[in-house]
Amino acid sequence: MGVIPVARPAVQSLPAYRPGKGAAQAEKEHGITNAIKLASNENPEPPLTAIVDAVTAAAKVAHRYADHRATAVRERLASWLGVDAASVTVGAGSVGLLQQLFLTFIDAGDEVVYPWRSFEVYPVYTKLMGGKETTTPLNAQHAFDLDALAAAITPATRMVLLATPNNPTGTALRVSEMRQLLQGVSPSTVFVIDEAYREFLDPSFGDPVKELVPEFPNVVVTRTFSKAHGLAGIRVGYAIGHPEVVSSIDKTLFPFAVNGLAQAAAIAAIDNEDQINARVRTILGERSRVIASLKSDGWTLPDAQANFVYLPLGADADSIYLEMEKRGVVTRPFSNEGIRITIGSVEENDRFLSTLAEVAKPR
Ligand SMILES: *Cc1c(COP(=O)(O)O)cnc(C)c1O
Repeated sequence: MGVIPVARPAVQSLPAYRPGKGAAQAEKEHGITNAIKLASNENPEPPLTAIVDAVTAAAKVAHRYADHRATAVRERLASWLGVDAASVTVGAGSVGLLQQLFLTFIDAGDEVVYPWRSFEVYPVYTKLMGGKETTTPLNAQHAFDLDALAAAITPATRMVLLATPNNPTGTALRVSEMRQLLQGVSPSTVFVIDEAYREFLDPSFGDPVKELVPEFPNVVVTRTFSKAHGLAGIRVGYAIGHPEVVSSIDKTLFPFAVNGLAQAAAIAAIDNEDQINARVRTILGERSRVIASLKSDGWTLPDAQANFVYLPLGADADSIYLEMEKRGVVTRPFSNEGIRITIGSVEENDRFLSTLAEVAKPR
C-alpha cells in the first residue's frame, strides 16, 4: 500500500454530520413497508405550486451562472423584513451561513460558547476551525440556563451561538432574555441567534431582527426557507446583521453557493407568504393536538416552540427509538437523552401517537 494523504488533525477529529434516517432505509433495515420519516423537521407538504413553477423556469437558464450575490433575493428579503439590503445576506441554507460565520470570525484557539444539547453543526464547525468550545448545560426544563451562559461568556469569547427555538428540545428564549445577556457581552463577541424555526415560535417571544439587530452591531440572526417554507432540498437561508458584519460574512460566500433555482424559490416563497402562513398554521394546529394527546396520556414534555416535540427519555431513549423505528416510525434519537419527533401530516402524527403508546409508558 502506498502512502495516502492524511487530513489535517482538526478534520480527523470531526464527528460527521448525521442526517435523519430516511423512511426507505428503515424499511430495508427492518424488512417493513410504509415507514414514515419524522426525523429531520421537514415540512410534510411538498413546495407550493408557485414555487415549483418558479424553479422550473429558473432551470431553463441553468446553463448560465446565476447572480453570485443573489441581489434580487437580498432586495426582496430586505423589503419584506423592513431592513436595508446591506443588512441582509444569503447562503446555501442557514448551515451554509453558520459555516461562513465560523470562517469569518473563528481562528484556531478562539473561544466559542453555546448551550448543549443544541444544533449538531456547532461542535462540527468549532472543531473544523480548531476553535475551543465552552458549553453550558440545559436547565431542568430542557431550556437554556441564562445564568450559566452569562457566566460562560467572557471578554475572550469570540462567538456565542443560540438556537431559539432550540433543536432538539424546542424551547425558546425571549428577546428580553437575550437583551439581558447581551448587556454583559463584549461588543467584539459575535452573538449568533439561529432562528431556523422562527415561523413556529409564539410571536410574544419577540423579534430579534427588529428589537436587537438595530441596537447591537454584534448580533447576527440566521433564518431559513428549509423548514416553514418547505424548501429543505433547495438550500437557501439568510442572515441579518450590521452592514459591516454582513459584508465580512459575504467575503466567505463560496462562488455561486446560492444557485439560480434556490434564488427563484426564495423569491416565490416570499411572494406567496399567505399560503406559507396557512401551512404553518396547520402545523401549529397539529403541534397543539399532538401535545394535548401526549399530555392526556400522562407525558410531560418541554415547551415546544418549533415544528417538533421532544421527549426526554434518558437511558430509555435508544430502545424506545428502536421499537418505534421497527414499527415504521422513524424519529431522531439522542443517545441516552431523548427523541425528537417532527410534526408531520395528520395521519403521520396519529401513527406516531399510537406507536409511542404501544412501546413506551408515559413519564
Ligand atoms: C434545520 C436547522 C438549520 C438549518 O437548516 P438549513 O436547511 O441549512 O437552512 C439551522 N439551525 C437549526 C437549529 C436547525 O435545526
